[in-house]
Amino acid sequence: MAKKQFKSESKRLLDLMINSIYTHKEIFLRELISNASDAIDKLCFIALTDDKLGMTRSDFRIDLRADKDARTLTISDNGIGMDKDDLENNLGTIASSGSYKFKQELEGKADDIDIIGQFGVGFYSAFMVAKKITVITKKYGSETAYEWQSSGADGYTIKECDRDTLGTTIILEIKDNTDDESYDEFLEQYKLQSLVKKYSDYIRYPIIMEMKKSRVKEETKDSDSPEYEDYFEEETLNSMIPIWQRAKKDVTQEEYDKFYQEKFFAMEKPLKTIVTSVEGVVTYKALLFIPSSTPYDYYTKDYKKGLQLYSSGVLITDCCEELVPEHFRFVKGIVDTADLSLNISREMLQHDRHLLTIAQNLEKKIKNELTSMLKSKREDYEKFFAAFGRQLKYGVVADYGMHKDELQDLLLFYSSTEKKPVTLAEYVDRMKEEQKMIYFAVGDNAAAIDALPQTELLRSKGYEILYCTQDVDEFTLQTLMTYKEKRFCSVLNDDLGIEEDEKKEDEKDSSALLTFVKETLGDRVAEVTASKKLVSHPVCLTAKGGISFEMEKYFNSIQPDSGMKAQRVLELNLGHEAVKTMESLIQTDIDRARKYAEVLYCQALLIAGLPLENPSEYTDLVCSLI
Ligand code: ADP
Repeated sequence: MAKKQFKSESKRLLDLMINSIYTHKEIFLRELISNASDAIDKLCFIALTDDKLGMTRSDFRIDLRADKDARTLTISDNGIGMDKDDLENNLGTIASSGSYKFKQELEGKADDIDIIGQFGVGFYSAFMVAKKITVITKKYGSETAYEWQSSGADGYTIKECDRDTLGTTIILEIKDNTDDESYDEFLEQYKLQSLVKKYSDYIRYPIIMEMKKSRVKEETKDSDSPEYEDYFEEETLNSMIPIWQRAKKDVTQEEYDKFYQEKFFAMEKPLKTIVTSVEGVVTYKALLFIPSSTPYDYYTKDYKKGLQLYSSGVLITDCCEELVPEHFRFVKGIVDTADLSLNISREMLQHDRHLLTIAQNLEKKIKNELTSMLKSKREDYEKFFAAFGRQLKYGVVADYGMHKDELQDLLLFYSSTEKKPVTLAEYVDRMKEEQKMIYFAVGDNAAAIDALPQTELLRSKGYEILYCTQDVDEFTLQTLMTYKEKRFCSVLNDDLGIEEDEKKEDEKDSSALLTFVKETLGDRVAEVTASKKLVSHPVCLTAKGGISFEMEKYFNSIQPDSGMKAQRVLELNLGHEAVKTMESLIQTDIDRARKYAEVLYCQALLIAGLPLENPSEYTDLVCSLI
């Protein structure tokens, strides 16, 4: 029988497949099973109206059989089948099939073998593992069955053959092992079982394999040395109905939890399960999870954000990044949509309009779920925020604050008065009538901030202060700038926006003292002022201008020679004994007064968490005064 040649464009593709060094050869099984499932879909549809067919939905199935001795793997379906023309047109050429798109993309990129993995490459992918393929098929409405056979790029043959039932059987003669490559695994039942679970678990028809099992021989059951025998049993390998396709009311939380833990290798149950189903311009179902703690690799480059993407039950990609925004990258889950083609490439995914719409919808959905958790399950929300709050703050700061409006109401900060995390809305609702700004203080922990002298005045007025203990906190508030038209103000800022009329008089009287201290300290401070905010502490440092102390510390920690320096303002509490003593010493013992000024400045540095310029000089100084 004369061999027919593949159409020319198919040939190149075949060459590539056959000689592929692509590591994901295993996807061939997904492709063949998807084809079988499509073929069954078609006949199943016909069966609805054609009684003569005598088939109901439950009769349809896909069979896998591996024969190690013959080195064959057989995939059979009882779907619509193919006639001679179909075989010519569908398997003889790649035109019109999804593979054609693949080939077009491939043009000019022949060296980039990895591109194969990004496509549904269809029937041809079987040549990655098979040296010879035989297709035996009979089409609905046809009397004749055909056998198609090919060993690869040299062409194919078609002849009539015997087959009683409708459908298609594909027999792969698995390649022999080479020095670099083992193909044996595609004949192992456990490997096949796991591939079906991985790629085709939610195919809607049963994928059945005859599994070799072992059992104790009946007659030796009670003996001390029982003997074993092999037997074969059919097993359905796929679970068929994905959990996200089932109505929410029919699934228990335990089932969702189990699914999440198995699918995403999580130790704990999810904190929140989100089930959503949309029909309309885009149709999709999504099952999302918010983990209950931060994954150990979350803030490393190893962590991959993204959702699993299915197209009608067939896995397209394990991690579709485009489906979740960066600020919600902790969300795990699955999206299943019928609106995508199986053959879509990763690059095409990025620009797919349906996908974009789904991503936008999901973002809104996640935000709404978090908002309602915040309102009605505060304890859960605080747990969530402890795990992923930092991510939300990064989200506010990222992209020049583009997402701040969306995220600001999800933020929590520890409150000086409530002694627990509060939202910005709660803060503003509680603000005192005359209070103009939202105050925050930056420090390593709550205890350190509690001890800051700069907070004294605010406390005495009963003003609430938000504590910023994470490095990203201050940047977050600076990006927000305002909340409900109230400005954020650091307690370390020189101007707290509080009018203190009585103290203005003191300021006038104290100009000699302030000038003296400024002269003593020289360029180390930009200014020396009479403090409006100190009550029991003698001094504090505040920052003037755009750079805060926390920014100075942060930038110097990542780049020690950055030269980033906040302008220091030394504030003196004129009512404090230490300051009064210094003032009187200016007249009687000016050297000693200078030493006092130095010591007070160093104390202010220490309290602000800034390094002393010369620690040993400071200790000498203190000792000289003792
Ligand atoms: P695609 O599935 O992307 O169209 P394939 O190369 O996998 O590309 O398949 C080409 C065509 O061959 C299919 O569109 C289908 O018409 C036909 N085909 C493949 N496998 C089967 C099958 N098991 N039963 C019936 N038709 C099939």
